[in-house]
Amino acid sequence: MKKIPQRMCVSCRERKNKSELVRVVLLPDGRIEVDPTGKMAGRGAYVCKNKECLDAAIKAHRIEKSLNGKADDMITERISEMIGRESERIGDPESGSGTGEEKTNRNGKPSSEEKILSFLGLANKAGQVVSGADAVSAASGKNTVFLFIASEDAAQGTVRLLTRISADKGIPLYRFSTKSRLGSKLGKRDRAVIAVTDKNFSTRLAELLNEHILNK
Ligand SMILES: [Zn+2]
Repeated sequence: MKKIPQRMCVSCRERKNKSELVRVVLLPDGRIEVDPTGKMAGRGAYVCKNKECLDAAIKAHRIEKSLNGKADDMITERISEMIGRESERIGDPESGSGTGEEKTNRNGKPSSEEKILSFLGLANKAGQVVSGADAVSAASGKNTVFLFIASEDAAQGTVRLLTRISADKGIPLYRFSTKSRLGSKLGKRDRAVIAVTDKNFSTRLAELLNEHILNK
């Protein structure tokens, strides 16, 4: 029998399914960040996806105490936003049914995938993106990599390699889009791996990716 992984909320101390909890992660530099994927490398702590547990946890600095790290003021906002969006989704059966394939949502606005791809195109024009094998060597060389993307259709070996580098170097790794879409945004053929070498671009990109993953 397969067990559903259970984790304890730092606030109410109840054990729940991971899906009912928000994960926060301790980054190598001692900062605490929200981990919407639940898969980011580093020590994690969990809090229920409800306002009561979150407020209580923030007030008593339970997250910081359990991870022995520093959470900035924005983290409360980001977690609240996440919880807010999830309850919105539950209240609106029409949304959240998208396949991620369409370029616009039903309001005619660009889909979050399209937004991220455009942003990647921008970062690429600014010379802050390396792709393919160059992305991997950039992380081991003197170039600094702040964020990795592996396409959802990347080969297993590629994903394993990136996961290891990501854990070793504390570089966040996201799974996003397809090789062909990533490649075409960079004016290249298929690209299963992308590395972003600018901190500001990475920060914004991570926000967009987190949002995208949550709304999938
Ligand atoms: Zn709780």
